[in-house]
Amino acid sequence: MACKKWYMGTNTKMYKTIAQTNQFISRLQELTFDIDRSSFELFVIPSFTTLESANRCRKDNLVKLGAQNMGWEEQGQYTGEISPLMLREVGCDLVMVGHSERRHIFMETDEMENKKVRCALDHGFTVLLCIGETEQEKGAGQSNEVLRRQIQLGLAGINEKDTARVWVAYEPVWAIGVNGKPVEIGYADEKLTYIRDCLKMEFGKGGEEIPVFYGGSVNAENALPLSRCKDINGLFIGRSAWDADNFNAIIRAVQDNREKCCLAK
Ligand code: PEP
Repeated sequence: MACKKWYMGTNTKMYKTIAQTNQFISRLQELTFDIDRSSFELFVIPSFTTLESANRCRKDNLVKLGAQNMGWEEQGQYTGEISPLMLREVGCDLVMVGHSERRHIFMETDEMENKKVRCALDHGFTVLLCIGETEQEKGAGQSNEVLRRQIQLGLAGINEKDTARVWVAYEPVWAIGVNGKPVEIGYADEKLTYIRDCLKMEFGKGGEEIPVFYGGSVNAENALPLSRCKDINGLFIGRSAWDADNFNAIIRAVQDNREKCCLAK
């Protein structure tokens, strides 16, 4: 039986220069070219200034290229913003919206994320909406409420047809980055299922098909157990993926396991 498509991606945040990004993408392609892309999608989300040359480094659609953010108008008096037309011009396929650093450092609201989601979909991009509760919200027992709100408001006004170009990453804020605490697998499993239920409630059949990823301190130790969660379709990795060889080792560990599971079905 055919297994569902599996996704692996990384956001390089404000770390890699043009030369470093090119080297990273080239090495990643070299290491992973043999993995069948009909059942596996690899995506890299580097900084804006690297996108044009990163696009030129791409071979045979081995890597999907994403932007870390996007303004919600085609042009105008929005100093410091990058428009969908500009992202299209440099070869982007994917736009990430609502990363926790955008929400919590740059004070983006669910309403702003929704404008970006709708604009990106209108311009033909795939959208990766990031959602996740803070430590305080988790402590107050509000995790589900927050996740439901971020889905309902972030994806408001999306028609069922467009859900085919929506991806969701569950990234608990307290699990992300250098001060992040690795998640307990059972907790991630429960929240991923809750997210799937919310997506089904919002979009019916379309919601069943939206790929949902886990992100936040994913590493070589927890990648495999996380990949076995019931409602997960991929892993979204920061630090542990920024060395292409390390990323490939994680990709391989998960792929080997998935192949075995698929053969067993
Ligand atoms: C992230 O910032 O989205 C992320 C997943 O980072 P890390 O894996 O480094 O926690």
